[in-house]
Amino acid sequence: MIQLFLPLNFLGFVYREIRRALTDLENMLGLLKRKPQITDAAGASTLQLTKGEIRFEQVAFQYQPERPILQQLNFTVPAGSKVAIVGASGAGKSTIARLLYRFYTTSAGRICIDGQDISTVTLDSLRRAIAIVPQDTVLFNSSIRENIRYGRPDASEADIDQAIALAHLQHFIASLPQGDATLVGERGLKVSGGEKQRIAIARAILKRSPILLFDEATSALDSASEQAILQAMREVARNHTSVVIAHRLSTITDADNIIVLKHGQLAEQGSHDELLAAGGEYARMWQLQQKQQQ
Ligand code: ATP
Repeated sequence: MIQLFLPLNFLGFVYREIRRALTDLENMLGLLKRKPQITDAAGASTLQLTKGEIRFEQVAFQYQPERPILQQLNFTVPAGSKVAIVGASGAGKSTIARLLYRFYTTSAGRICIDGQDISTVTLDSLRRAIAIVPQDTVLFNSSIRENIRYGRPDASEADIDQAIALAHLQHFIASLPQGDATLVGERGLKVSGGEKQRIAIARAILKRSPILLFDEATSALDSASEQAILQAMREVARNHTSVVIAHRLSTITDADNIIVLKHGQLAEQGSHDELLAAGGEYARMWQLQQKQQQ
């Protein structure tokens, strides 16, 4: 019986693998067939980065007609500064990140980087200027090291080692039997949300873009993971213009400016201390989160 079972079991495995490979291929071809919604404007120029200042001017946006998400949004992120965007769930925080990276185009107003309207520059030059650390990082079915290299495929081995150290990943990697050669992704080792974010931070460090966009994960992290991520973020934010979409206010108390969004509009802005003293929306959110932590 076992003589029959083993080959059949093996055939089953081969069949499942082929099916999975075909599905991957179908998905990929599906993606390629789909016409991209956002393309370069005729005569689009290359973004000329000088300082890395970001400016939202009277920005409005809606995903669907008659459901405005952002309205008359004005704010500036001075070059080299760290700005946090906070607000209740659904306020439009991630939408700001999607508009900046041009996954969507503004319905009204404009977004400028160093004085250039991002809808008039090539997507390639825009996206080279911005490194994103998304909420949910996609890991490829490959080793941790290859997943990090994806940030800049021509990076040297020494650059990758440095990114691993700056992203505070070396202890995690050292704890794995095969170190940075360990396979991750759907078919490899399952990594936690915090570890995934640090892999994304290492990619962002490697990319060396002047602007960093950090979309903080919503899921609660334990305080050790949070501290590791905060330290990694600080390393990468040094000498960068950074925009942090934050859910946990404890992670952005050091921001140069905090923008508080409410129903897609700017409710208030200032430093952590200024906003606490103002006793408005931010102060209420802060007190609520402090209570929840206790
Ligand atoms: P959270 O803190 O929960 O991540 P957020 O402030 O980042 O929320 P957004 O993701 O920017 O909020 O969403 C703002 C609004 O836009 C929400 O009401 C959401 O339902 C809506 N929305 C987001 N993405 C889409 C989409 N692709 N199509 C239609 N509506 C969308």
